[in-house]
Amino acid sequence: MAPALPQSADTRSGLIAFIADVVFDIPIDHAFSYVVPSGLAVARGQRVSAPLQGRARVGVVVGLREGDPTGLKPLQRAIEPVPVLSEAALELGRWAAGQSLSSRGSTLLSLLPPPPRGGTAETVSPPAAPAPGPSRAPELWTDERREDRLVECLEREPGAALLIAPDREAAARWAGRLDAPRLDSGVSEGERRRAWFAASRGRSRVVVGTRSALLAPLPPPAMLALIDEHDPAHKPPGAPRLHSRDLLLRRAELDGSRLLLLSATPSAESWWHARQGRIVRPDAPPAPWPQVVTADTRGILRNHPLTLPLTRAIEDMSRQGRRAVLIVSRRTAALACDECGTVLRCPDCGVALALARDRSALRCPLCARTETPPDHCPACGGHRLSPFGWDPERVQTSVVRRFPRLTVSRQSVEAQVLIGTPALLRTLPRRSVGCVGFVALDGLLRVPDFRAGERTWQLLWAAAESVGPGGRLVIQTQHPEHYAVRAAQAQDRASFYEEELKFRAELGYPPYRRLAEVSTRSREDGPARALAGECAAALRGIGGLTVYPPTSVSPPRGRQSRWRFVIKGPAELPQLLAPALAPFLGRRRRPTGVVEIEMDPQSNG
Ligand SMILES: [Zn+2]
Ligand SMILES: [Zn+2]
Repeated sequence: MAPALPQSADTRSGLIAFIADVVFDIPIDHAFSYVVPSGLAVARGQRVSAPLQGRARVGVVVGLREGDPTGLKPLQRAIEPVPVLSEAALELGRWAAGQSLSSRGSTLLSLLPPPPRGGTAETVSPPAAPAPGPSRAPELWTDERREDRLVECLEREPGAALLIAPDREAAARWAGRLDAPRLDSGVSEGERRRAWFAASRGRSRVVVGTRSALLAPLPPPAMLALIDEHDPAHKPPGAPRLHSRDLLLRRAELDGSRLLLLSATPSAESWWHARQGRIVRPDAPPAPWPQVVTADTRGILRNHPLTLPLTRAIEDMSRQGRRAVLIVSRRTAALACDECGTVLRCPDCGVALALARDRSALRCPLCARTETPPDHCPACGGHRLSPFGWDPERVQTSVVRRFPRLTVSRQSVEAQVLIGTPALLRTLPRRSVGCVGFVALDGLLRVPDFRAGERTWQLLWAAAESVGPGGRLVIQTQHPEHYAVRAAQAQDRASFYEEELKFRAELGYPPYRRLAEVSTRSREDGPARALAGECAAALRGIGGLTVYPPTSVSPPRGRQSRWRFVIKGPAELPQLLAPALAPFLGRRRRPTGVVEIEMDPQSNG
């Protein structure tokens, strides 16, 4: 348990009192000091209510000391009678804030269940103090039975366990399967708080949550499991500005817990860590695999969304009474040649150039290189350069015309042909459909983002896993030779990661280099632009950094102007940026605008 405040202080001189240092959910990275009123016992890690900027706010006590109370306001009350965070969790929060260049307060408070409204808290007990065990290497489970094996493992092993799911839907599924309490926002606030404190007492052996549960108190050493490690939902923008995987890796290192990362198609970063020996990756025996067919769409897709192989697959499956699923990407952000399939890419960054909404310009999302769209293909000289125009609505109309007797839907899972965006793949149970068809895989490969290849690979694999025995996966693409397609066809993980890591190394992307994104916003465009320029200028001269020029990313009719720029640097990027950018961060509503930093953004688009 955290050290509680001694009950009596020497106040005879009148100048010495107990002072609590409290952090709040604001972008200011220092603690505010308050006098602890006599009769109020508080400890580090406890939530308290204190006056800040004229109103009562909830903060976390991060320090207690004796000192001069002159000019300090008193704390108002304790939210719970005991700390909500252990010493280890406070340390983890401090580390996460430093890694993500955000304030300790906003990091810690984004990782806690909401405080009770009104006065009284439920009966609670303090979080367990971890006795650090010997550290164990994290494990990366990629095999088909990974989730069943996790359940078996939880049944077999006696210790406490925390499961972090990518979203509320997945958390609900896991909580149901394990009959475990939930710590995510899909349940009532009271339920979340009860689950939090029950976990700390060891009363619930297994708890399930999303990333807001990363600091959940468990009697250590525990088992920590990250479900679908590759899912971008594990690092959305905003606090806590750290990937759930990285926080769990650090947590396991600090308290000796066993960490399991589950994914059939892990991030290139985790695969690389495994290759370096920092993560154990047991071999995954090959699972049953559907027939994977590629269909070349050059010159076809302009008028009709289905090639012959995909048309046949739908016919064959409907004859067998099995469902077909068509995946259509909605993003149409890049320009490609209809004749040879060449995508217009940034020569320096390797990512597809993004086509402006009005089609007047092509821009690299990373280095801001801007070009006028050419009128012919640089590779073959062809004159048909076009963005991809198929969306689920258009595909549905076309499929209904081609198959008037089949039920075709974008909603009903009962339909014989179900059409949706890639998100649909998350909801399909394993081995449940007759065929999956990617109408235009190139729409995914062309997303102007360095992770486009990795995301496409992950979707192809998920699609293959959702096809039942004797079924088919049909990939319509102009790039049947792309390594993501080849590797999915051959069910060969190693070959995909080898090529992907080669690409990342050549062009300096994670895991070889780290990215950070600085964005500024202001009501007027001028100040937002000037502020971005000042931030970029402050970084000039720091060795090891590549600072790209700021560009406007203002939404078309938004109320605020936004500018941003990207920085590439070595592993210690946060430490290099912190001193130079400190003057721009943490000032409340600067008259000129607001500066935000997103470390390790999951995309550069
Ligand atoms: Zn570029
Ligand atoms: Zn061409």
